[in-house]
This record gives sequence, C-alpha cells and structure tokens, in this order.
Amino acid sequence: RMNLKKITTGSSNLDELLGGGVETKTITEFFGEFGSGKSQISHQLSVNVQLPTDQGGLTEGENIAKAVYIDTEGTFRWERIEQMARCAGLDPELAMENIYYMRAVNSDHQMAVVEELFGLVPKENIRLVVVDSVTSHFRAEYPGRENLAVRQQKLNKHLHQLSRLAEIYNVAVVITNQVMAKPDVFYGDPTQAVGGHVLYHAPGVRVQLKKSRGNKRIARMVDAPHLPEGETVFEITECGIRD
Ligand code: ADP
Repeated sequence: RMNLKKITTGSSNLDELLGGGVETKTITEFFGEFGSGKSQISHQLSVNVQLPTDQGGLTEGENIAKAVYIDTEGTFRWERIEQMARCAGLDPELAMENIYYMRAVNSDHQMAVVEELFGLVPKENIRLVVVDSVTSHFRAEYPGRENLAVRQQKLNKHLHQLSRLAEIYNVAVVITNQVMAKPDVFYGDPTQAVGGHVLYHAPGVRVQLKKSRGNKRIARMVDAPHLPEGETVFEITECGIRD
C-alpha cells in the first residue's frame, strides 16, 4: 500500500467514510438509484484531483493532476465543472482543459477507450479515471437473465483492465453503477439488486448512495476490506459535494 494518495470528495463526512478520500491504485464504485449523486461526485472528483495536495488534490507544484471522464449516457455537463471549479478556487477554463472527456458509444468502444488510456495516462499526468456509468452499455446490450453470464464475463474483463490501469499508473478509478431503488424490484437480474450482487471480485471500495431529504444524501460503505462499515450524510449544493 505504498504511494497511495487520496482525492477529497469535497465533503469531510464522505472523505472520512472513505478513509480520507478516493484512493489511487483502487477502484471505487458508487452505486445507487437515479439521482442519488453518482454523477455529481464524479464531476466533483474530476475537479478536485486538480487541487494542490495540501487542499486534497494530487497536483504537486507545477505538475497538474488531470482527469479522464468516460461518459456512457451523455450526462456529463461542462457547466457543472465550471461551477465546481470556480467554487474550489480553480480557473474554470483551465479546470475544463485538464479533464479529458470521452464519450463511449457502446461496450466495445468503452473497453477500447480504456485500452487507449494505457498510453495517455502516464503521458498527461492523469491521476483519476471516471467511468460513468460502468454498467449501462453492458446491461443494454446483454439484457436480462439469459445474457447474464456473457455480460458478467465482459464486464469482468473491463474491470480487470481498469484495475490494471489503477495499479500500474497509481491512478484512482471511480466507477458508477445505477441500481434499482427497491431491492425487491429487480426483474430477476441480480446485478441490479441493491447490494445483492458483487459486481466483481477485485479489491476495491463500494459505496452505496441513497437519497435523503432535499439535497441530502446518505453514503454507506459496503464490504470494504480495509475500511470500517458505516454511514454518513453529505449534501449536493450549487458548489458541489459538501457536508
Ligand atoms: P445520479 O446518481 O443519477 O448520477 P446525479 O449525480 O446526477 O445522480 O445527481 C442529481 C442530483 O444532484 C439532482 O437531483 C440534484 O439534487 C443535484 N444537483 C445537480 N446539480 C445541482 C446544482 N447545480 N445545484 C444543486 N444540486 C444539484
């Protein structure tokens, strides 16, 4: 566990739950229902990685830490990056330049994009790779129970790519995964049941997000090997993720 670095989420509550923030050399999965905050956290981390180390980012001196954002559903918003960057005290234009936006149009493309990152990541000092969402294309292309085995096989291959990338280049990998709000309504598909099915069998961190009142959200640590189980509350504000 040498050289591990942490990126702040913007919420000290959430950071504490994560043992200080989102960790390099690790895949961190945020899963939860629609609107639970998965994309907002992903946007926020793409900004925060660029902060100097004493502010919870991974920029050391002049060497700016950058992010890759792989968007599978078209939910990425530059305006949101601009807003979060301004609130974080970064130049919004520069903050946007330091995020490599990539749209993955299907699961094969998604995997090809990650393969290309093995060249880009070390060259551009990329320290965070987001895949939002990691599961949507795989679910759409291999629907239902009858395709479960082949889907899981492809997804595992993809996750293996991502974990290699995290390990080799000491980057943080953040993936999101949308699940049904009600665990009893998952149409016979165990990968959509909340907490009911482990996505992969790689060392990693899984955080369940739940909607609470207004802009409040609940985050729960799920079966992390080196972190205590627990729950905390954070907020999604105009400025981004906060306590
Ligand atoms: P998902 O888990 O589906 O990815 P999101 O991360 O997109 O969910 O969260 C969407 C929620 O984030 C919205 O319902 C809203 O509560 C909050 N949100 C988004 N943008 C803003 C903003 N500019 N100011 C305050 N809250 C926002």
